[in-house]
Amino acid sequence: LTRLQYLHRIHLSDVLQLLDGKAIAKGILDSLRERVAQLVRANHPPPGLAVVLVGEDSASQVYVRNKRRACEQTGIRSVAHDLPADVRENELLALMDTLNEDPDIHGILVQLPLPNHLNKSAVLETISPMKDVDGLHPENVGRLTRGEPRFVPCTPAGILEILHFYQIPVEGADVVIIGRSEIVGKPLAQLMIMHNATVTVCHSRTKNLAQVAAGADILMVAMGKHHFVGADFVKPGAVVIDVGIHRVNDKLSGDVDFNAVSPKVRAITPVPGGVGPMTIAMLMSNLALAAKMQS
Ligand code: NAD
Repeated sequence: LTRLQYLHRIHLSDVLQLLDGKAIAKGILDSLRERVAQLVRANHPPPGLAVVLVGEDSASQVYVRNKRRACEQTGIRSVAHDLPADVRENELLALMDTLNEDPDIHGILVQLPLPNHLNKSAVLETISPMKDVDGLHPENVGRLTRGEPRFVPCTPAGILEILHFYQIPVEGADVVIIGRSEIVGKPLAQLMIMHNATVTVCHSRTKNLAQVAAGADILMVAMGKHHFVGADFVKPGAVVIDVGIHRVNDKLSGDVDFNAVSPKVRAITPVPGGVGPMTIAMLMSNLALAAKMQS
């Protein structure tokens, strides 16, 4: 081995790698800003995103604010539709119809969760599949399942970008996903299958969870349970992707107990600064794709 190869092997095997989603997201947003500026210089309208927020859920307000800020940073036009918590379903559906017809709006985002009296499926199915930048319309879900994606849900798409950026091989890897939600776990599983991983999806009824997780080359955790995943859940040298976001004592942390797990693994996403910023960057990137397809 040359000295360089030797150092490289050490780098890959022994040194913990922090998977810096924040830096990758910045690169994606910087290049999008440049593309939007080029469009505007050529007298095209900037891509437009409608952001629909129903009610006053405080976590949703933070997510929506971050998405609107990313629009500002990239020159994307975002239009806010803040509706009261008791909005009637037919009013919300009528708004979707209006936005579907609006040529200056290329993407529609309805922040979830919706209040209980609203039928989430009915709302998501009313969004035009061509403006469905969250990738939750059944047509886009079906396309991903067939391995022919149009809009991939933003969090799974962001995770794949992180793995590609750090050249972490997905093909043939044993990937264990904890969580089977419509927005993270299930589309993530489809995306990993599409990229030739061997995928196991765990959920609240899974038996011997820690033991199953410890078989993973890449462990992806999206369960919404603070610091649930400890050192016993990981194989030495595994890669860990932590999707969870929790605010505890005014600090953000994940589903993975970072201090317990990180000494054992090869690479891990921090919270904050891992998956979260990538989710927003992929939303902007889906919007740019939507605008391109519609122009
Ligand atoms: P969800 O509540 O819809 O789904 C949680 C999943 O975890 C379910 O499928 C459930 O079966 C599974 N689960 C729960 N308890 C379990 C247990 N004890 N054992 C095994 N499985 C269990 O959550 P979600 O919307 O997928 O979000 C998950 C987490 O990710 C939350 O903390 C959320 O805030 C966060 N999140 C982060 C981003 C981001 O950009 N980083 C995006 C979306 C969600």
